[in-house]
Amino acid sequence: MTAVTTVDGLSAATPSAATGLRCLACGATFPLAPMFEGCPICAAEDDRVNLRVTYDYDAARKTLTPDAVAGRGRRGIWRWAELLPIDQEGARISLGEGDTPLLPVRGRELGEVWVKDESRNPTWSYKDRLCAAAVSYGVQSSAQICAVSSTGNHGAAAAAYAARAGMPCIVFTRPDVPATMKILMQIYGAKVLATTRLGRWALLRAGTDQAGWYPMSNFTMPPTGNPYGVEGFKTIAFELAEQLGWRAPGTVIVPTGYGEGLSGIWHGFEDLQALGLIDSTPRMIAAETATSGSLATALASGASRPVRVETSPSLAFSINAANTTYQALKALRDSGGCSIQVNDDEILDAQGHLGRQGLFAEAASAISLAALISGHAAGMTLPEPVVVIMTSSGLKDPHAAQARLEPVVEVVPEWEALVPLLPPELLPTPSVS
Ligand SMILES: *Cc1c(COP(=O)(O)O)cnc(C)c1O
Ligand SMILES: [Zn+2]
Repeated sequence: MTAVTTVDGLSAATPSAATGLRCLACGATFPLAPMFEGCPICAAEDDRVNLRVTYDYDAARKTLTPDAVAGRGRRGIWRWAELLPIDQEGARISLGEGDTPLLPVRGRELGEVWVKDESRNPTWSYKDRLCAAAVSYGVQSSAQICAVSSTGNHGAAAAAYAARAGMPCIVFTRPDVPATMKILMQIYGAKVLATTRLGRWALLRAGTDQAGWYPMSNFTMPPTGNPYGVEGFKTIAFELAEQLGWRAPGTVIVPTGYGEGLSGIWHGFEDLQALGLIDSTPRMIAAETATSGSLATALASGASRPVRVETSPSLAFSINAANTTYQALKALRDSGGCSIQVNDDEILDAQGHLGRQGLFAEAASAISLAALISGHAAGMTLPEPVVVIMTSSGLKDPHAAQARLEPVVEVVPEWEALVPLLPPELLPTPSVS
């Protein structure tokens, strides 16, 4: 078939190879439909398990080749249209997300380490990939109103993509999130309301049931999420394989709250292996806060389901979740991975280390490098190359970083006054006075 090629190089006829939804635990399959509370069969047994989109890999293999994706004029997540659940080209909403840089991390004798800088996305976090996919599915399935519960990044991304799609959006957040987060959500035109941690989910559920809102995030316990949105995270795996010359990394470390990012990235590697585009898959490592650790607790106790834990405040508030998803636990087990927990001090160290290499990561995002440094110090050997996902920009919460910085000193505009204030590396010549 000779397909019509649009200006962005994606064939107008590039179809999605999505075939349905499948329960990750019992294996029951369902047609592609708006299902946001996990598997109904497992739920009937009081078990909350995630659904995952399935694909016809034989169909995808025909058009999704390394050359084809490299040659597609449009950059970003829709280069991988075959492996995303949106069939109508007109529904593929984009703000130019994805195709973020992969940069080497220097120093600390950590081996071959790369950082995937997701702060370059349109709303400066990796949630843009999730929300591009989720809003697009909303458009395709004729959703009218987007709704989300978020500590910030998810809400900002949902608001921006809903705006781009011309849909109203409502965000439930918490009163204590940084002002930057609230401003972002509001500037994109969303209705933003602050409430309690669990109240956010109750209100989201009520609006979904009563007013037909389209839920872009969790509202069940344990979380099940929007299975179409999670597919967007797979494109991180696709880009990593391409950026590393069509090989998988040895290890991928992901800042983890509900683990939608972690499991989405893992599913991306599974897809690539099914297509024969990579011959190994990485170990997936969850970087969790020392103040939460749902995955670490489940793994340590051998639990088959996510474990709810008590939390206390952390600088990494974007990931400090009391509960995680079944799919995240499964991704760690299937990939031979584990969880590494780190505290705020270790996070700030890693944030400084990235800063001195030209990268400014939100605390919740610098935690992936912090976990690597901590794992290394504890004698863990991780298969290389190691990729740490830097999920968001430090500008989301600059005050967290400021705590470690010296106050800016004022100086009178005279050389003699300046010299005593300068560190030696800025004065290479002997005394100038
Ligand atoms: C949401 C978020 C994460 C974690 O994503 P989950 O899918 O909840 O694990 C990581 N980093 C940042 C900056 C986030 O906003
Ligand atoms: Zn099931």
